[in-house]
Amino acid sequence: MRNRRAALAAAASLALTLTACGQSGEGGSKEKPGGTEGATIGIAMPTKSSERWISDGRNVVKDLEAKGYKTKLVYGEDDPEQQVSQIENLITQGVKGLIIAAIDNKSLNSVLQQAADAGIPVISYDRLILGSKNVDYYASFDNEKVGRLQGRYIVDKLGLGKGEKGPFNIELFAGSNDDNNTRYFFDGAMSVLKPYMDKKQLVVRSGQTALDKVTTLRWDGATAQRRMDDILTSSYKSQRVDAVLSPYDGISIGVLSALKSDGYGSGSRPLPVITGQDAELASVKSIISGQQTQTVYKDLRKLAEVASTMVDDLLKGKKPEVNDTKSYDNGTKVVPAYLLQPVSVDKTNYEEVLVKGGYYTDAQLK
Ligand code: BGC
Repeated sequence: MRNRRAALAAAASLALTLTACGQSGEGGSKEKPGGTEGATIGIAMPTKSSERWISDGRNVVKDLEAKGYKTKLVYGEDDPEQQVSQIENLITQGVKGLIIAAIDNKSLNSVLQQAADAGIPVISYDRLILGSKNVDYYASFDNEKVGRLQGRYIVDKLGLGKGEKGPFNIELFAGSNDDNNTRYFFDGAMSVLKPYMDKKQLVVRSGQTALDKVTTLRWDGATAQRRMDDILTSSYKSQRVDAVLSPYDGISIGVLSALKSDGYGSGSRPLPVITGQDAELASVKSIISGQQTQTVYKDLRKLAEVASTMVDDLLKGKKPEVNDTKSYDNGTKVVPAYLLQPVSVDKTNYEEVLVKGGYYTDAQLK
């Protein structure tokens, strides 16, 4: 703890020293000495295999550059070891701040110690890094709420709670077991679904309801597709699936492929209600064409802005703004967080939220 404080103090005083070295001048504002101008910030993103992280990288770079920083952006291709060595390289190259979206949330302990020893502040981006005291701030969304929105959508769409009694068949999918968000999404969804499962108004025919039975390593769509194939074969010979809880658009796409190969989506076998997350382009198109039913939109532009402002503040010796100081315990400390709000999107509101909100143009969704 003391080391960490000393490191942060060193970072702040380095910022002041740089200011004193003559880059300030204009404006002379004490709060924004501008002394970190030109410093390089390292950004470590998990994978290019999903559109969202490509946008994240681009948005964070743009925001930091607008604040006068240089950036080094790396992608770990979903390989935790590769991500660790990328972060080591960034530290060696002299970055002054790190923004990290972890691949395996428990694999970064030793590399973050190196960052701390070098006085480099660390922002945990979207996914909380666990087990390390050297995580300064967390920028994310209300992840529990993401799950609640998915669960609530299923319940409402099936008409449960509005007179409809069921029973309906549902299958559950969760994200990667090495991503801290997975548990939050799943718990949020289950807080809404479980009461209906207890009353047998929702039935999981596969019997796979525990989190460790329903996770999807690295959020991989093909893995989810295989699991859905197996479930359809083993548990739905004479039954139909009415709903699928999917935590992420890429998983929804895999699940949809399995369902379509099994004859869903044609004639007397309508596709089930199927949720998602991230409002990725292919999934929004799928929603418009009546395949995937819902997604959870998270405005990544705002997330990038929060994270880059946190780094900027830290390097200028200012305390970043947070709005949650209790929810995200990483096992060694509660990491102060700024959480943004997710929004449920389906066919009825995508125009309003995504197009009017400037996230996609109508032309992109054609
Ligand atoms: C993010 C989600 C994303 C998932 C897969 C999670 O940590 O919060 O937005 O869908 O990773 O990339």
